[in-house]
Amino acid sequence: MTTSLPYFTKGEVVKGFGRGSKELGIPTANFPIEVVQKLPKNIDTGVYYGWTQVEDSPVYKMVMSVGWNPFYKNKEKSMETHIIHKFEDDFYGKILKIVILGYIRPEMDFSSIEALKETIWEDIKKAELELERSDFQQYKSNSFFSQQ
Ligand code: ADP
Ligand code: MG
Repeated sequence: MTTSLPYFTKGEVVKGFGRGSKELGIPTANFPIEVVQKLPKNIDTGVYYGWTQVEDSPVYKMVMSVGWNPFYKNKEKSMETHIIHKFEDDFYGKILKIVILGYIRPEMDFSSIEALKETIWEDIKKAELELERSDFQQYKSNSFFSQQ
């Protein structure tokens, strides 16, 4: 599942499915279906980490979930990026760029919201640590993020 990494992509931030990720304190910026459909087949469902940028913002760390959305009868994958940064405002309609660098874990079922939140905070800690590696730091200054 990691043979296609690093994987660079970009697209508009669209409305998600109102799963209340903001209430969890963990908002996820959703990509439109066209961006999701371009994902290489061997990028499996699960949680990934990498770098991200909202238009000309600084480049931030991110965790991203790739999963099947039951909303779509044809079972399209969804891609949801949580940017590890506190934003004052929403940024729907803006262009989000990402580079996916590593895999954290498969999709999981949770018995409670608390268990889900705890696991996501662990994912975030892992992403923050992994992205300090020098071979991952170099992607932060990749020309992909400086070309507007
Ligand atoms: P939706 O169901 O529309 O995706 P969410 O509750 O997941 O709603 O919130 C996602 C939205 O919150 C993003 O589209 C973005 O505009 C905003 N947002 C604010 N801060 C962040 C962040 N740190 N990471 C991702 N999205 C954020
Ligand atoms: Mg979302």
